[in-house]
Amino acid sequence: MADQSSLKDRVAIVTGASRGIGREIALHLGRKGAKVVINYAGSAEKAEEVASTINKGTDTVRAVTCKADISKAIEVRKLFDVAEETFGAVHILVNNAGIADTKLTPLAETPEELWESIFSVNCKGAFLCSREAANRVVKGGGGRIINLTSSIVASLKPGNATYGASKAAVETMTKILAKELRSTKITANCVAPGPVATDMFLTGRSDDDIQRAVEAAPLQRLGEVTDVAPFVAFLASDEGEWVNAQVVRVNGGYV
Ligand code: NAP
Repeated sequence: MADQSSLKDRVAIVTGASRGIGREIALHLGRKGAKVVINYAGSAEKAEEVASTINKGTDTVRAVTCKADISKAIEVRKLFDVAEETFGAVHILVNNAGIADTKLTPLAETPEELWESIFSVNCKGAFLCSREAANRVVKGGGGRIINLTSSIVASLKPGNATYGASKAAVETMTKILAKELRSTKITANCVAPGPVATDMFLTGRSDDDIQRAVEAAPLQRLGEVTDVAPFVAFLASDEGEWVNAQVVRVNGGYV
């Protein structure tokens, strides 16, 4: 019987794959056999390193990079164009790119520009990528849309009103999209990590802040990128087909 976890011959786009969780997702999908487009906003060298790790030891190109700001429709279209021109029709979108307010500004002190920049990448970016995927991902089997959201939507920690709202909107959008995709066999889900040891979580945080996050989880540690990527790969595979229109909080029991 065929290995249902294999992603051989599947084409995946991973946004924000130069660093952090997206990097590990791209590497993991690559290990499972997928051909991967590594999207990034500014970190060209880091993105190239991810692509060359996936390509190491193979005689065909299995990963390429693509600079594109996911908050711009024209760049999202280009991202899908690059994937199709390089590898053929896209099966899997993992929309992972995101930004956070590392200063944890309370809502009462949040400038409009901060709100707009967070919504522009996290919410509008997820909309643009999901819209492109709904039109261009392969129909009839193996099509997957996976949006990274956050356990903040459930933990409701002060200082995260804007970030949390931007991710809550994506969770609702994704669940409705899954229903709109009836008859396409494309599934749409959110993966919502708790605190994960990446630049996003660690930047600007004191040792005490980090310790509080460690203690908030029953497993008493921060999440690692390797805690999240295998679950995304499961959803992306044939094994994960029956999980649809869901938000899965991958967080060690944090909330
Ligand atoms: P990270 O380490 O800060 O990495 C962010 C990635 O997104 C980078 O690859 C960055 O590219 C890319 N990016 C940012 N803005 C972009 C844009 N406009 N267009 C394209 N790419 C863009 O973040 P992370 O911690 O891995 O987080 C990944 C996802 O998980 C995010 O959606 C985040 O909200 C979510 N999440 C994270 C945590 C956590 O604790 N870390 C918890 C819950 C949810 P460059 O390198 O080129 O700048």
